[in-house]
Amino acid sequence: MTEGRKRRFPQPMCPVRAGDPCSLCIPGTSGPQDCPLVQLVMDDPELRERANELRQAARKRQQGR
Ligand code: SF4
Repeated sequence: MTEGRKRRFPQPMCPVRAGDPCSLCIPGTSGPQDCPLVQLVMDDPELRERANELRQAARKRQQGR
């Protein structure tokens, strides 16, 4: 029944490159879940807050607000 149909998985977004999907730009990572740059940013309260602001701004841009 599913022959010839490709299953698609959602592409995770990069938490530190607001609005961009994860492109596996850090060698050896398999996504945001084990990305050392994401871990560094999320471990720093100021960087985490700034990353959140940038993601919200990117989301609003995508929604045309
Ligand atoms: S590897 Fe890390 S920094 Fe690069 S796009 Fe993916 S989550 Fe973002």
